[in-house]
Amino acid sequence: MKRRILIIGAGPAGTLLACYLVRRGFQVDVYERRPDPRLLDEDESRSINLGLSARGIKALDDIGLMERLRPLIVPMRGRAIHLPGGALPFQPYGAHEGEILHSVLRRDLITTLVDHAEAQPGVRFHFGHRLVDLDREAAAVRLVGPEGEEVGAAADAVIGADGAFSRVRARMQHGLRADLHLEFLEWGYKELTIPAADDGSARTRLEALHVWPGEDALIVAHPNRDNSLTGTLFLPFERFGEITDPETFLAARFPDTRELMPYLAKEYAEHPVGHLVSVRTSHWHHRDKVALIGDACHAVYPFYGQGMNSALEDCTVLDRCLGDHPDDLGAAFAAYQRLRKPHTDVLDELSKQNFVELRDRLRSPLHLARKKADLLLARLLPGRWVPLYTMVSHTTIPYADALARARRQDASLKAGSAALGAVLAATLAFAVRRGRGGRRC
Ligand code: FAD
Repeated sequence: MKRRILIIGAGPAGTLLACYLVRRGFQVDVYERRPDPRLLDEDESRSINLGLSARGIKALDDIGLMERLRPLIVPMRGRAIHLPGGALPFQPYGAHEGEILHSVLRRDLITTLVDHAEAQPGVRFHFGHRLVDLDREAAAVRLVGPEGEEVGAAADAVIGADGAFSRVRARMQHGLRADLHLEFLEWGYKELTIPAADDGSARTRLEALHVWPGEDALIVAHPNRDNSLTGTLFLPFERFGEITDPETFLAARFPDTRELMPYLAKEYAEHPVGHLVSVRTSHWHHRDKVALIGDACHAVYPFYGQGMNSALEDCTVLDRCLGDHPDDLGAAFAAYQRLRKPHTDVLDELSKQNFVELRDRLRSPLHLARKKADLLLARLLPGRWVPLYTMVSHTTIPYADALARARRQDASLKAGSAALGAVLAATLAFAVRRGRGGRRC
């Protein structure tokens, strides 16, 4: 008889995992508390857009979905940095043509994944079902259905793909000696739109991730297929309530927002403030009965654009572990955590550091020069010098390996410049001595 797995949460991780599990021969039921996104109209399902990069692309490609998604994405070839004086320097994402990111609407990604999964015999989606309880020893769940009715289900295992505030995680770890570290950033975010111009064209360069860096406010915007961009305004949390005139507040820091964001005041008043949380936890699974995936076990701040990409990559790692341990779910879950956690811990650190980079360093000419030098070295020394950003965003080198390699490269560059410095100093000293000697003659 086919083994059955319940997935809780139909976000990027849960929907992609359903595709992988059915390919391995499991019967899969996915329970999602929200309604079916395919049945909502555009307004009801207002969707954020996300930066898709190499890891996510590889995970989607492995099940043949990338080609289906391609018409739905907008390439982002680099960062367009909005400086207060009006300059708009462009920082390419990579040294090579294909090293770009892609902007995709969460709704488009999820509906494509749900359509694909549902077309496979053995996958069922249950929208409007919220998990309320989990029996971790029996792999059994209790949910509340769309009409408020109680629904029960049991299977060989339950996978929690239910996001940073995972109920599966809470119930799985209840009463156990499990570490759980949730860290809230002191900044929150609000979404703002840069609509297309009246003639339908884009108001600013489309194929880029736009950044307005600032110490007390930061905006990042992703492009959409209709020539609009969706901006995310990040501010210290308490600031949101204090600002009474957001147009003036932002124009003082980022003058072009007046022209680019005509609905700013309305959207600022209407859109909720989101919070940003990072999650680390010691227990990613309970025996062979329960496991966690995506944000449920390793949410990160969004500043490296890797939260969803790493959640999609989790599916490939778990799939590989299931292949290595075909008859032992417990061994597969343990191997998955062992292989994956050291890397997502590093991603957590990198995502925190990138907040400081976007906020404070992007305006610095020194930083921009360093980035250019990084790309130049990558072109001059192909395969021998790969910038950390390139390894994280444009390759599938595991995160901790990427960081270790970047540190080795930095150390050898420093050693090289120290050696070059020593040679220059010795040459100078020699020249000075000869000069003095010359005078003596
Ligand atoms: P989620 O996307 O959180 O999905 C969890 C699902 O579980 C949801 O559908 C939820 O409704 C459901 N659920 C929750 N509780 C229950 C329950 N009790 N019962 C049933 N269902 C439940 N990542 C990138 O890679 N690139 C980016 O550019 C990027 N930008 C971001 C910008 C912002 C402002 C934010 C906040 C995040 C960004 N991320 C980005 C991160 C990305 O959104 C997440 O990492 C990703 O969505 C995680 O996917 P997931 O499936 O693990 O969890």
